[in-house]
Amino acid sequence: MPPKFGPAGNSESFYEQGHKSSLEMPAWLKDMGLDAYEYSLSRGINIKEDTAIKLGEKAKAYNIHLSIHAPYYINLASQDAEKLNNSINYIINSVKAAIWMGAKRVVFHPGSCSNMDRKFALNCAIDALKSTLFIIKEMKCEDVIICPETMGKRNQLGTLDEVLELCRLNEGLTPTIDFGHINALGQGSLKSKEDFEAVLIKTKNSLGEYRLKNLHCHFSRIEFTNNGEKKHWTYKDVQYGPDFPPLAELLVKYHMNPVIICESRGTMAEDALEMKNIYQSFLK
Ligand SMILES: [Zn+2]
Repeated sequence: MPPKFGPAGNSESFYEQGHKSSLEMPAWLKDMGLDAYEYSLSRGINIKEDTAIKLGEKAKAYNIHLSIHAPYYINLASQDAEKLNNSINYIINSVKAAIWMGAKRVVFHPGSCSNMDRKFALNCAIDALKSTLFIIKEMKCEDVIICPETMGKRNQLGTLDEVLELCRLNEGLTPTIDFGHINALGQGSLKSKEDFEAVLIKTKNSLGEYRLKNLHCHFSRIEFTNNGEKKHWTYKDVQYGPDFPPLAELLVKYHMNPVIICESRGTMAEDALEMKNIYQSFLK
């Protein structure tokens, strides 16, 4: 199975062409030559069961790999019992939506660590994730792969090391490596092929070859300040990093089959296609 490429949410061009419903996305993506779609529940879990089932049927018919982005306001390091409980429920309810849709993966942001010792915050998040996984197991929904994401701001939990440590909890956990976030947090740390390779090798050493080969990835050019991530741009905005070719070359070198989701501003599907074309140029 080769890598799969697709957008996070719907491109502006999708609406400009007169489409209105995400149910039309699988056919639209297939027509473009794409193979993945990350459905956003980032502002709340408000999809109805019958809509989710219909989306899943369309995705299956057009061979589009579905993933879900869980709500942004999850914080597994919260010290407020009610907020922590809600955070766990947002993941659980995203998993339920994934089951309706037949989505394979649920991506989530681990949480905040502002005004907290990072190690303490990480340990809190590990405990909360354990409880979450226990509930998912009780629900017999373990087939949905949970994917904690590497984050782009200093006050967020989710450096590469922190996400790898979360994923060591259970073999079913797969990291979402967001290369734009890593680059923003590292103040432009991803430039050469060796820079990207260091991320991949660290992941392999921590989680093994299978999870390296089947990573979940986010890729977009992101502007940053001293505090990290500021704004997502498009692939044409070359003044912002990172570039895709160094990673594309490594995907070929390590025989990787990740899902690569593009989070460009407005042109996420077009840019996902450009990345797929760049990847294919390295196969020749
Ligand atoms: Zn995200």
